[in-house]
Amino acid sequence: MKKKQFKTESQKLLDMMINSIYTHKEIFLRELISNASDACDKLYFRSLTDSTVGMAQGDYEIRLTVDKEERTLTVSDNGCGMTEDDLENNLGTIAKSGSFDFKRENAGKDGVDIIGQFGVGFYSAFMVADKITVTSKAFGEDKAHVWESEGIDGYTVSESDKDTVGTDIVLHIKPDTEDEKYSEYLESFRLQSLVKKYSDYIRYPIKMEVENEKLKEGTKDEYETVKEVETLNSMVPLWKKNQADVTAEEYNRFYSEKFFDYEAPIKVVTQKSEGTATYTALLFFPAHTPFNYYTKEYEKGLELYSGGVMIMEKCADLLPDYFSFVKGLVDSSDLSLNISREMLQHDRQLKVMAKAIEKKIKSELEKMQKDDRENYEKLFGAFGLQLKYGLYADYGMHKDVLKDLVMFKTSAEGNKLKTLKEYTETLKEGQTSILYAAGESIEKIDRLPQVENAKARGYEVLYLTDDIDEFALKMLGKYDDKDFKNVTADASLLETEEEKKAVEDDNKAAEEMLKYMKEQLGDKVFAVRFSASLKDHPVSLSSEGELSVEMEKTLNKMPGSDGMAKAQTVLEINREHPIAEKLKALYESDKDKLASYAKILFAEARLINGLSIDNPTEFADLVAGLM
Ligand code: ADP
Repeated sequence: MKKKQFKTESQKLLDMMINSIYTHKEIFLRELISNASDACDKLYFRSLTDSTVGMAQGDYEIRLTVDKEERTLTVSDNGCGMTEDDLENNLGTIAKSGSFDFKRENAGKDGVDIIGQFGVGFYSAFMVADKITVTSKAFGEDKAHVWESEGIDGYTVSESDKDTVGTDIVLHIKPDTEDEKYSEYLESFRLQSLVKKYSDYIRYPIKMEVENEKLKEGTKDEYETVKEVETLNSMVPLWKKNQADVTAEEYNRFYSEKFFDYEAPIKVVTQKSEGTATYTALLFFPAHTPFNYYTKEYEKGLELYSGGVMIMEKCADLLPDYFSFVKGLVDSSDLSLNISREMLQHDRQLKVMAKAIEKKIKSELEKMQKDDRENYEKLFGAFGLQLKYGLYADYGMHKDVLKDLVMFKTSAEGNKLKTLKEYTETLKEGQTSILYAAGESIEKIDRLPQVENAKARGYEVLYLTDDIDEFALKMLGKYDDKDFKNVTADASLLETEEEKKAVEDDNKAAEEMLKYMKEQLGDKVFAVRFSASLKDHPVSLSSEGELSVEMEKTLNKMPGSDGMAKAQTVLEINREHPIAEKLKALYESDKDKLASYAKILFAEARLINGLSIDNPTEFADLVAGLM
């Protein structure tokens, strides 16, 4: 028989397994049992729509058989089985889940227990076996086949006479060495405890023949060894157990295996609900942003089970978009098993569950925010952007859910994250608005003259550093009767009555001059004005109307916007800066020079506000001309 070669990737993984110095080799059993359980799921699933399967849910089982003489351990199932092609494709290549690259890159890194956390599937059996024989008959096929391999130098596939549907995986257990006692995997007590440890919640019975000491019939004190087939697992799914009976480690392992995350979740949430909708939910908040989270590839959803049997892998309708980062599952006996996707969308029961789950997530997040601030901030760092998008989305429909969950850094000591509620608790006397400023970074926002001014006057300012922030606050409109004000949009916002009066007088007196400057700048600006809000700096930009300068920047970054968004930009000139007198003098003596000044000051203001200047060459020429 011709030996076939493993695919390159598989060879690498195999090599890792065969030469493994990994101390938890025992996990191979969990991997094989989990595959067997999946195979039973598949056939059971099929039986729902195909009466020729002829098996009831109670007929499926997984069996462990030990032969000490032959040093073999066999894992059998009566699930869907594999065709010849399946054997080639599934066992000749590692699963294409993409997790392999991850495994390889991170193998051996400190703290990342890849094998333990992910599982590496079928190949992990090569950690304890030097030869593996897989005999399988797929449902609906006439012929069964045998796949056999002694490791790295390839495998063979041939026909077999197995006549029942399912799979037998025979492991030829390695001989013991100085360091490694492989024989323990031939001891029934060891196998029993491994099943308890790793596979207790598997839904199908895992059976094995065990030897029990029993009282001999008719005697009072004579014992005999009786061989009995026992079911080793309790078959209660993890989510059906009381949270108090499940260790954090069990939850974490369940999470990372199921959702392919190398980091433990930041929070585990369980919910049991009875009444309008009866269900159990097990939810996880991940500790970091999945690499594809903010892309179209990311699919939200919870696994959906009906009475312990999975009926959908990602039920998107169970999670609102703003909580799309939540992973987990929902098990409800109210749903029919063979419900289709289309039917589900209209299912009233599902809608009720989705609402209740949303409420639960919200209250858990609020609890974290209050009692476990550090982790909440970590979570917000990973998924806060999504919450802010949620605030803005659907015309602000979800603001009541989200307004207390979002946070912003502020100009108060330490620049800590604050909720809107926390901000409003420390308003300055007489302050009726929530003040903010937008920009790329805290450092850049801090350099804006109006922000400097606000801080000097003792006001706290929210730093909006994400593009969505200002849009989200605009959508929110008000928080607790306080409106939101952009300190850079309305320069006169913080001026005292006297200052306002002085600025107004200045503007009136220099009306002609300011108009002349505006004309020189054309429609690049809406107006040129004096201001008392720029601290010691000569100029800055503000805006009139709905759109701020920062919002214009964001909108124009979007593909296809073509610079359509235009804020009504106002060039503010500091009335107390020497430049103010200089400009007034130039208007009398040298209008051409004033025109150059107008252009230079406008360009400077754009730079201060983090915008580029349209014509840098002209700017350079003008400045050099004045020098
Ligand atoms: P994974 O389980 O992560 O997909 P494995 O290497 O463990 O990766 O298994 C590869 C594939 O082989 C499985 O996806 C499944 O299609 C198939 N397979 C493994 N064991 C069995 C089995 N007992 N019955 C049917 N198919 C199986």
